[in-house]
Order: sequence, then structure tokens, then C-alpha cells
Amino acid sequence: MTDFTAVEKNLKARGYEVRQFATGAEAAAYLDAAMDGVTVGIGGSATVRELGLYELLARHNTVTWHWEQPAEEARRSAMTTEVYLTSVNALAETGELVNIDGTGNRVSSTLFGHRKIYFLIGRNKLAADYDSAVWRARNVAAPQRARQLQAKTPCAERADRCYDCKSPGRICRGMVTLWGPMAGMEAEVLLIDQELGL
Ligand code: SF4
Repeated sequence: MTDFTAVEKNLKARGYEVRQFATGAEAAAYLDAAMDGVTVGIGGSATVRELGLYELLARHNTVTWHWEQPAEEARRSAMTTEVYLTSVNALAETGELVNIDGTGNRVSSTLFGHRKIYFLIGRNKLAADYDSAVWRARNVAAPQRARQLQAKTPCAERADRCYDCKSPGRICRGMVTLWGPMAGMEAEVLLIDQELGL
């Protein structure tokens, strides 16, 4: 069992609501009960896909996700939903959330545009400190995603590390660190004791 005690304390000190779940299924059930009849946007997230949240929430909410709908339009309309769901590329035990993005829709939505945002974070995303979190985001999450996408980048073949490429197909175009929730947006972190996402 993962000890989330320190990271939960540090996240709460930064202003996040925090909940712990033993499994992704429990986290999904919690979210399913937490919203009804609202508009929900989803960022590019293998975690959200693994939890089946699009199908679950779309039964009784208006859900927009560019992984399930025409991408360009869905990316834009997901930016103004009441609720937004995403994971992170890494979470520092000290409480910083780190996300890398290629098109910017996901990181933008962590900064502005929603009444409430939920961060769904599996135990594999946890890093000991901020530098380790940035290292993880750049050298673990991004190369694995490049490999999934069969990107024409030096990291895609072996998914072993970032080469800080200048490739036209580079998927890492910006990195956002959240020191805390943005002013005016509720933010809840769901810590899940299960390996989820990249
Ligand atoms: S910057 Fe380039 S090499 Fe590094 S992870 Fe991103 S796509 Fe791969």
C-alpha cells in the first residue's frame, strides 16, 4: 500500500482538496456520484481512459473529449466546461503538479476556464521532489507517449529518455508546474493506489 500521507498533507497545505482511493474503480465511482447534469471536459489522459470515465459520466452529463469526438472542435469546447478531468505527468511529494503538452489544451484547462478541476493521479506518478517530478515528466511520461503515438522523434523508438529533440514531430511544446490551484477554480486531487497512465 502506497503511503500518500506526506503528499496529501503538502497538497492540502497548497489549497487542494485531496481524497485517497485504493483502486481506480473506487475513484471512478466517486466521480460518477459527484457530478450529474453538468458539462465535463477531459484532457488527453490514459488514466481517464483506463478508468472508463468517458462512458460512465456521459450517461448523465454532457461530456466532451477529443479522444472520442472530432478532435479540433472537442478540444475547443472542452475548454469552457463546468468541470474538467485530467491526470498529470508527475506529482512531487512536495505538492507540485507537472504537466507537459503538445497542443496546449490540457495544460490551459489546468489554469483557467472551469468551475472545478479533478486531477486523477495513480501511484506511479509520484516523485520524491520537484526536480524528480520534472525528470519523470520529461524522461518517462513524454517518451512513452511519443512511442504510443509513433511520433517521429528520437525518444519514440526506445522510450528510454528525452533527447530534447528539435524534431517537427516533438510532442513536448510546453511544461506547466502548478504550485497550487489557480485562483477562482476549485481543484481536487484523487490519489489512487494503482498504476495508471504513463
Ligand atoms: S522533447 Fe523530443 S525527445 Fe524529448 S520527450 Fe519530447 S518528443 Fe521525445
